[in-house]
Amino acid sequence: MSDIRKRDEPVRCALLIVDLQRDFCEGGALAVEGGNDVARRVAVLAAEGDYECVVATRDWHVAPAGHFAEEGVAPDYRETWPVHCVAGTSGASLHPLIDELELDAVFDKGHHRAGYSGFEAVEHHTGETLGDWLARHRIDVVDVAGLATDFCVVATALDAVRLGFATRVLEAAVAGVSPDTTAEALQKMTAAGIDVVPEPVVRGSG
Ligand SMILES: [Zn+2]
Repeated sequence: MSDIRKRDEPVRCALLIVDLQRDFCEGGALAVEGGNDVARRVAVLAAEGDYECVVATRDWHVAPAGHFAEEGVAPDYRETWPVHCVAGTSGASLHPLIDELELDAVFDKGHHRAGYSGFEAVEHHTGETLGDWLARHRIDVVDVAGLATDFCVVATALDAVRLGFATRVLEAAVAGVSPDTTAEALQKMTAAGIDVVPEPVVRGSG
């Protein structure tokens, strides 16, 4: 996208906060270790970063066929999971530090099936897809943060780059379910041309 951009047009960057919900943070139904720390870092980033817009996705399950482990069967934590983020429950609500941000839009996914990528999500009120929304706001660069690195973050970032957004993943503002799959996800993202940034940098003027 940057190739066709005119020189005098500023680069427009969005912060995309993936699934920073109560159920995915410590104390929740499917807690990712470090989730609360991630929420703190993302809240600072959202407040201090130079973003055109800040948006969030939510895992938002009504009846997600096969995504929850059946009763009495242990989840495998790859394709089946404990019950989490049931639409309208407090577990599905955003982490309190994220909830108090002035978000420009919130996108929900996974209503009736597993939904790992934020680009499957639709705006909570209007039903507009995340991709359409970002395009309508003339976003060039997407900074991805949130949970979990090895599932929804990687799926979201891969779709972002596929759709033509320059994509960065802020390594200090994400956390994964397991070390192996997290390392795999980071490799996969780098190979796809995603910039994995070690520190949650506040965007400079360049
Ligand atoms: Zn889910």
